[in-house]
Amino acid sequence: MSASRHPALSATDPELASFVAAEETLQAETLRLIPSENYVSAAVLEASGTVLQNKYSEGYPGRRYYEGQQNIDRVEALAVERAKGLFGVDHANVQPYSGSPANLAVYLAFAKPGDTVMGMALPMGGHLTHGWGVSATGSWFRGVQYGVRPGTGLIDYDAVRDQALAERPKIIFCGGTALPRTIDFAAFASIAEEAGSVLVADVAHIAGLIAGGAHPSPAGHVDVISTTTHKTLRGPRGAMLMCREEHAKAIDKAVFPGLQGGPHNQTTAGIAVALHEAAQPAFVSYAHAVVANAKALAQALLERGFDLVSGGTDNHLILIDLTGKDVPGKVAAKALDRAGIVVNYNTVPFDTRKPFDPSGIRIGTPSLTSRGLSTEHMPQVAEWIARAVDAAAKADESALAVVRAEVTALMSAFPAPGLPLS
Ligand SMILES: *Cc1c(COP(=O)(O)O)cnc(C)c1O
Repeated sequence: MSASRHPALSATDPELASFVAAEETLQAETLRLIPSENYVSAAVLEASGTVLQNKYSEGYPGRRYYEGQQNIDRVEALAVERAKGLFGVDHANVQPYSGSPANLAVYLAFAKPGDTVMGMALPMGGHLTHGWGVSATGSWFRGVQYGVRPGTGLIDYDAVRDQALAERPKIIFCGGTALPRTIDFAAFASIAEEAGSVLVADVAHIAGLIAGGAHPSPAGHVDVISTTTHKTLRGPRGAMLMCREEHAKAIDKAVFPGLQGGPHNQTTAGIAVALHEAAQPAFVSYAHAVVANAKALAQALLERGFDLVSGGTDNHLILIDLTGKDVPGKVAAKALDRAGIVVNYNTVPFDTRKPFDPSGIRIGTPSLTSRGLSTEHMPQVAEWIARAVDAAAKADESALAVVRAEVTALMSAFPAPGLPLS
């Protein structure tokens, strides 16, 4: 399979080519439920693998430190224009290498080491780069954290406000990696205004939902929007920072020369293609289908007795709390993997277990929706999860093998974008 798909690679480096081919098979056969992952289109894959790779282009379109930018400038300018159009923002920087460096650039633009910054706590669903201790952002800055309410699993905006007014952080981050509910950007904006803080919406997970109109947009509410391009937005691995005109210079200076050297032009090209795809009517349908599938899956899981953080979902993501089952998150995640269902173990708010061995699993519907699965399939998906978790509790390997065969059979009927047909 790989020899015809990647003939040069197969000839030069058959060992590496065999790993890629195996990964293609794995991605084709399994039910991928990790909410931060997706399948990029063949067009995005092609753009990401072009000779744009060969070019150094430190600087920005029209203001480069290297010559020969005739085509690169057009690629980057196109990506920038598409980002501005899609998200309705004044300014876009498409050069950050990934979400974490993008967030680091925000600190560089608006804070000094030792300043107080505020974000959601990692075990509550925030991201490492929102000032959590083990991250550079938590050791170079004074990170203070907010969480969710016990019981409801929802953000307590009054508590966030009290904390922000007491701490007066330079920067407030909203958004996270395990938040199954809609973020109230207007509420955060009034808190940040009162506290005199720069407000950053980190929409890495939900950028595609925002682009497709399936989650409210932070544009107009926040100072800076930070996002990865490879999650629900379905682009290559990369990131963007978007902002009002007043912050454009600070953001650009922070990304280059503040933090990075030459941008990854092949990635910029892939981002441009993904933004073009996300501007099509089909992507609006996709974004809404992702949410409809997640809601249907949540409902089917609840009917099978699963405990979901916040009781369900408004977006693409579901956080299952396995505390009431006989099986910790990691054991369940590994069993599900053997059953052909790929998830990640995750802390749940107020987890009584350790982060490397937590009580929850995190799942989402972006990838399965990209393959065309719809709400009618979600009861089946929930049933497989239930059977696999049961089998994990009983260490029943043959039950996992049966689920795996069923999963592979269904997935073979739903070819994934960008993958060879098996
Ligand atoms: C994924 C994610 C990031 C980091 O992205 P990387 O590309 O993995 O560095 C940052 N913030 C949030 C909220 C994320 O979900």
